[in-house]
Amino acid sequence: MSPDLELRERLAGVDAAIAEAAREAGRDGSQLTRIVVTKFHSAGFVRQLAELGVRDVGENRHQEASVKAAELTGLGLNWHFVGQLQSNKAKAVRRYARAVHSVDRDSVAAALAAFPGAEEPLDVFLELNLTGDPGRGGIDPDALEPLAERVLSTPGLVLRGVMAVAPLGEEPRRAFARVRAASDSLRLLAPDAVAISAGMSGDFREAILEGATHLRIGTAITGKRPVAG
Ligand SMILES: *Cc1c(COP(=O)(O)O)cnc(C)c1O
Repeated sequence: MSPDLELRERLAGVDAAIAEAAREAGRDGSQLTRIVVTKFHSAGFVRQLAELGVRDVGENRHQEASVKAAELTGLGLNWHFVGQLQSNKAKAVRRYARAVHSVDRDSVAAALAAFPGAEEPLDVFLELNLTGDPGRGGIDPDALEPLAERVLSTPGLVLRGVMAVAPLGEEPRRAFARVRAASDSLRLLAPDAVAISAGMSGDFREAILEGATHLRIGTAITGKRPVAG
């Protein structure tokens, strides 16, 4: 089988599994955004995905993402930044990203503010830390409110909702139930911030069952990632 064919089949297989989980949850699968996480893969590989109809791609390192985005302009791709973000890189990420899923600090929100000439609003997800380990990225769900206020009052940012990664060692469905609870409380403050970015290759079914709207799926679609360059 050509790699191309394998990729097409994995993509179709994941899309079928997404549709099945949506049915199981009594949800409309066409309302879900499937983001293919392409970190470590080449621009040529991302181009193949675009040819297969993929529109939403995710990256977690600015340097790598900016090079690929520059090479692939004109394909209509939406770039989602899903990795840890330093404030000093935020402005540069804004130039190509449609969404940033990993906002967890005031300083990052401030740095992502529209710069003069930036017409396009940037979609923002607040990253939750579900581990209880402050060394991890993300904000404690109990501390969400001030950060949400900050994003809501920052020009050029659209608060879409919350994002989370299920911690290792916790049953994913339980972890995603906590994300859903955080999303419910965020919506009291920001009724339009209904999105939930959750679910990766190993747990997107559980995420869909707990209300995920944006799935970040890498290896189940791309196959094994090349070693970091
Ligand atoms: C790499 C990555 C993913 C995708 O992970 P897979 O297990 O390959 O599906 C999703 N979210 C984030 C934040 C990532 O860094």
